[in-house]
Amino acid sequence: MRTLRGIYANIIIDISHESVDRVFQYRVPERLWGKLAAGQQVYIPFGAGNRRRKGYVVELTDRPEYEVSKLKEIEGIVRESVTAQSQLIWLAWWMKERYGSTMNQALKTVLPVKQKIKEAPKRQIRLIAKEDAFREALALAQRRKYSARLRLFSLLKEKNPVPYDETVNRLNLTAAALRPLEEAGLIRVEVVEKYRNPLLEMKRLLAGEREEAAEALPAAGWQPPVLNEQQRMVSQAICREYDQGIRSTCLIHGITGSGKTEVYMELISHVTAQEKQAILLIPEISLTWQTVMRFYLRFGNRVSVLHSRMSAGERYDQYERARTGDIDMIIGPRSALFAPFERLGLIIIDEEHENAYQSELAPRYDAREAAGELARISGALLVLGSATPSMESYTKALLGEYHLFKLTCRAKADAALAQTEIVDLREELRAKNRSIFSRRLKELLEDRLSKGEQSMLFINRRGYANFVSCRSCGEAIKCPHCDVTLTLHRDGSLMCHYCGHRIAQPKLCPACGSPYIAPFGTGTQKIEEMAAKMFPKARILRMDMDTTSKKGGHQEILSAFARGEADILIGTQMIVKGHDFPKVTLVGALAADLSLYAPDYRCNEETFELLTQAAGRAGRSSIPGNMVIQTYQPDHYSIQMAARQDYEGFYEQEMNYRRLLGYPPAVGLLTLQISDHREDRLDRAAGALAAMAETFPDRFPGKQIPFIGPVNAPVYKVNDIYRKILYIKNENYDILIHIRKMAEACLEGLEGVALQSDLDL
Ligand code: ADP
Ligand code: ZN
Ligand code: ZN
Repeated sequence: MRTLRGIYANIIIDISHESVDRVFQYRVPERLWGKLAAGQQVYIPFGAGNRRRKGYVVELTDRPEYEVSKLKEIEGIVRESVTAQSQLIWLAWWMKERYGSTMNQALKTVLPVKQKIKEAPKRQIRLIAKEDAFREALALAQRRKYSARLRLFSLLKEKNPVPYDETVNRLNLTAAALRPLEEAGLIRVEVVEKYRNPLLEMKRLLAGEREEAAEALPAAGWQPPVLNEQQRMVSQAICREYDQGIRSTCLIHGITGSGKTEVYMELISHVTAQEKQAILLIPEISLTWQTVMRFYLRFGNRVSVLHSRMSAGERYDQYERARTGDIDMIIGPRSALFAPFERLGLIIIDEEHENAYQSELAPRYDAREAAGELARISGALLVLGSATPSMESYTKALLGEYHLFKLTCRAKADAALAQTEIVDLREELRAKNRSIFSRRLKELLEDRLSKGEQSMLFINRRGYANFVSCRSCGEAIKCPHCDVTLTLHRDGSLMCHYCGHRIAQPKLCPACGSPYIAPFGTGTQKIEEMAAKMFPKARILRMDMDTTSKKGGHQEILSAFARGEADILIGTQMIVKGHDFPKVTLVGALAADLSLYAPDYRCNEETFELLTQAAGRAGRSSIPGNMVIQTYQPDHYSIQMAARQDYEGFYEQEMNYRRLLGYPPAVGLLTLQISDHREDRLDRAAGALAAMAETFPDRFPGKQIPFIGPVNAPVYKVNDIYRKILYIKNENYDILIHIRKMAEACLEGLEGVALQSDLDL
């Protein structure tokens, strides 16, 4: 808990009140100096009538923002301790400041579930009377001819306890009729299952996988694997820091399959044994249910999950279980960070490099940063883990801001890293091979098919290159609402992956009328067709957004593949994220360059991560694995370093590039994106921003603040909305925040234009 200093407090009024978007300043009476903390609930006089209201302290300061004599005084503290709810409210405040959203948006994000979805708890009636007391009660009921009561007693003599609802309905009893029996100590009404448990549901979905571990978990006799030397060193070191109260963020850099998950479990065991609670963030639960089941197997009902496909009621229950202490650990995507644990001790972020931790909705928070802040105010430890840490995190580790721990070998002694080769696609063309499978990849696929081993083939972006173009005029068929090409689907229709617009494939070129229009490039459906043609006997599964849109789609495809029901799994990058398929011995990246062309300074990093993680999928067991990277840029360092599994080598080159071009984490980057469906208004707003940027030398004398733009966004039009971007670079966080606020003020009077900002450091 962080105690704040200062004699003026900025306070947001209790959230039931509507004017929540503003803070109000109050004087802190002397008796409360040094006693206020971030998120603390206080009583304050509010409004003209000075009605007593509750508020949350978000900031203390020595500088009054109003005339001091007009400031009212805080009346008192509502509760001495800061509750989970108040911590989350403080976090919302922090997010609003950091990411530039409204307080309402921030509060909706951290306190997502508002209403309980009513569902009566499951109950049962248990007979608890001693023998003579029971005999007496029975005699009394007979004498007075209480027939319903008699029926209940005879039922309870046969079977104890009995289910509440069924019994009450069948015997025509009422709650009122049961109460005297309860008061007399004859029966007890017990709550059996208070909350919906999503893991039970998940287990039913996976029926057959762990059926023997049915009700009571951990199953009798089950033992976690004995940690190897490196795993033990890392988990002991982190536990020691934890016990000593050291709260520097820890970064575990462990190669794929090095046993990071087992280390996480050790850490969680350690803090939960001290009555503390833990949050484990994972990028996407539907892709990592295997991991979740490992936690379930070890921790049983002390663990729960949150995920996007749960109903509002199920979610509500999990938040309640967290709040009441029914569970001490939760696993989920970034929103699981807001589980209201009163005794939070540990936050772990697995695969911390994933961009799933970046929210796309306002507030556009980064879960890693928000977790850092939450850990700080609740006194918890933050642990990040990855085989390919993000540039930002690794830089902090090298600077000593984070504590770095390494796992350098695979956990299973006999599992070697995959043998990786790069295939130059230009060579294939020279050899007149126009197939999407290089000769080497084809040869390896044939080999695996003949041995009955499994293969995975992926491309980096869904439908990215699967468009239709005109051979006469060269035009590609584009979405009328967005600046992107339409993607060809197998049913012959063309679809926009940005806005969902769908049309039948035209016979003539819309631009020149030529009949010579044809598909160009390769999507997952096309690869599936070509693989089926080339290997007619192979059993092929495809996993992409089209085949997984229904509930449980991911699990179904992945578990079918895990059970060995297919020889080849084809998909987008989602197939190479985080699974453990022991029988996969070949992974092919069909067009590794696709992600190198993305209009984003992170594209080299993303490509390296993806290829390194993919290589980790091949050869998880004792059978040696192969990885083939097909590319037109065999010398690119992202591809070279991924083939060598050389993270440090990649980091060094990439950091040079970021320094040279001035990108984070070398310098801070503020991205201001403005959008409007009217281009004229957008141009006017862009003009205003440009004029604002021209004032930087006067506003910040002596500071170098380079900026680019406003320029058209890489995809200028989406869903009929035009977008322009202004990029601003500086090392100083406060300056960039200040500029963001300047931009907000500068656009305030302009109608229609929306501003969205990102601040990368
Ligand atoms: P990571 O999270 O680093 O990818 P995992 O924790 O998933 O690695 O471990 C990879 C595989 O090795 C899993 O199948 C896991 O059960 C197994 N494993 C991990 N640690 C050990 C150990 N100490 N002894 C035996 N097997 C282990
Ligand atoms: Zn044409
Ligand atoms: Zn579109």
